[in-house]
Amino acid sequence: MRYIPWVPSNIDNWSTRHSVLTMAGRTAALINVLDDDPPDPDKVADVLRAYGEPDPIDLTTHDVAGMRAAAALLREVFTAESTDGAAAALNRLLQEHTGPLRLTSHGGSTPWHPHLDDDDNAPWDEWLLASSCIALTVLIWDHQRPPGRICSSPGCRIVFITQGSGPERRYCSRRCATRERVAAHRRSRSAAQSGRPE
Ligand SMILES: [Zn+2]
Repeated sequence: MRYIPWVPSNIDNWSTRHSVLTMAGRTAALINVLDDDPPDPDKVADVLRAYGEPDPIDLTTHDVAGMRAAAALLREVFTAESTDGAAAALNRLLQEHTGPLRLTSHGGSTPWHPHLDDDDNAPWDEWLLASSCIALTVLIWDHQRPPGRICSSPGCRIVFITQGSGPERRYCSRRCATRERVAAHRRSRSAAQSGRPE
């Protein structure tokens, strides 16, 4: 089962859908669904729809292949181990993969908001990189810590946003947290039985 992070219940509200935290959550959800090889366009469309993208969402296998490459680049921000590392990863993406900052209202159909892609109708991979870079940049600016992380369970590749309220999470899910707790317990028990110091 893929982990799909929390989506605000008032996602239909424009300002909620475009809040930085929602956009960053969408980035994490897309990186996770795009980790499948090859990604399933229907599953990717489901994530986009969950985050308020209006239908019809027309995604080809070529589109999702491009998005998968973009997601692999964005993953580096989530696997960075420090704020400096996350900022450096983002700076590389901003330098090499996004256009200059501009404002758009999509022809008057939305409130004005910032874009880093070249065009309102940019291809999906360019859109994913540009919209993700804006959200992750603002989160680092705002909180001065990495915007997200990868699950601490070895072998789990799920990424998530760590900027919500509450204590910092290390695992993507209760399932991963429980598995690691049980494994740690087994290790300490077998160490005790073999007489080794813990
Ligand atoms: Zn996990």
